[in-house]
Amino acid sequence: MNAGTRELMTELQTRGLRLQAPQAGAASRRGGAGPSDHKAVTVDGVTLMVPVHTHGAFDSPFVADAPGADGLATLRHGTIPIAQISFPRTPKFYARQTADGIPYQQIATLHGTDVLATTVLQTCIRYESRRKACRFCAIGQSLAAGRTIAHKTPAQLAEVARAAVELDGVRHMVMTTGTPPTRDRGAQVLCDSAEAVKAAVDLPLQVQCEPPDTDAWFQRLKDAGADTLGMHIEVIGDELRQQILPGKTEVPMARYWEAFEAAVAVFGRGQVSTYLLAGLGDSRETLLATSERLLALGVYPFVVPFVPISGTPLEDHPPPGAGFMQSVLQPLGAMVREAGLRASDIKAGCGKCAACSTLSVFEGAEAPAEIA
Ligand code: SF4
Repeated sequence: MNAGTRELMTELQTRGLRLQAPQAGAASRRGGAGPSDHKAVTVDGVTLMVPVHTHGAFDSPFVADAPGADGLATLRHGTIPIAQISFPRTPKFYARQTADGIPYQQIATLHGTDVLATTVLQTCIRYESRRKACRFCAIGQSLAAGRTIAHKTPAQLAEVARAAVELDGVRHMVMTTGTPPTRDRGAQVLCDSAEAVKAAVDLPLQVQCEPPDTDAWFQRLKDAGADTLGMHIEVIGDELRQQILPGKTEVPMARYWEAFEAAVAVFGRGQVSTYLLAGLGDSRETLLATSERLLALGVYPFVVPFVPISGTPLEDHPPPGAGFMQSVLQPLGAMVREAGLRASDIKAGCGKCAACSTLSVFEGAEAPAEIA
């Protein structure tokens, strides 16, 4: 992929997209955890989650025409056609429901082109208090709107996972969770869910939670069937953590570092990952220095552009500029490559899916002269 396409993808992901035919392809998402207010868009064979419902997206210079009969749509910058794009199709499993009438789509959704994603517990101890809630989080919005259910049971997850593999060929699954008021911080519910899914279908699986109270949970999660683990730092600086995710500061950064080391010993190098949200205040230097420390431990640093979600306290926060993202992702791509922890080697999860950041397209890129 050439530098121009990488730049276009990074810009599209930070500025968003206006759609002439909003219903094209798989439905977009509003609210919830993960890439909310986004839609999956394929550019040059790479699928990205691109904001379509955010305030910024309404002002984006990028516009997609309605797709033609061949599924391709023209992407324009203003009025100038710049690329052909496509939208992943609506998955067949969305048409199904459980015996007790719950649509499968309320239990898990398709992310990117081939990832099944679910938030096992759609409630969170942090979200219940305005003072403690992460200021970017919309976990309660899709629940309040009736688009999902509060607790997906292991049996429901297993049923939907099997259907998504059989009907749509999904290749891996991501299970995240809101944090319950228990010391395991969601690890037990993830163990139960992983066990049920793995008993039903052979599907690589990533589980995601805050660092649990004891490292013994990592082996339990692995034994239950988790192939990879995500523990998400999100923002790094102590002051910034207090501002952006006050409830989560109950778990100090020192615990994250300790937990990463213990988790890599169980899951292996490159099979533990973290999200770092670029654009919320951590500098390029902080993001890169933290990534370097993570890579040295064997943790994949999934740096994603922060995109504000409508209805959250940060809804008017500007997304990072494409220039800032490139200035982080270009050197980070080289660092990841040198550490031998590429996205393509991850067995399951966000880093492998790679739709929420253009990091993976920089992992194969040549470093420019000033960075090399
Ligand atoms: S990177 Fe993770 S959150 Fe983003 S679309 Fe892929 S699976 Fe979903």
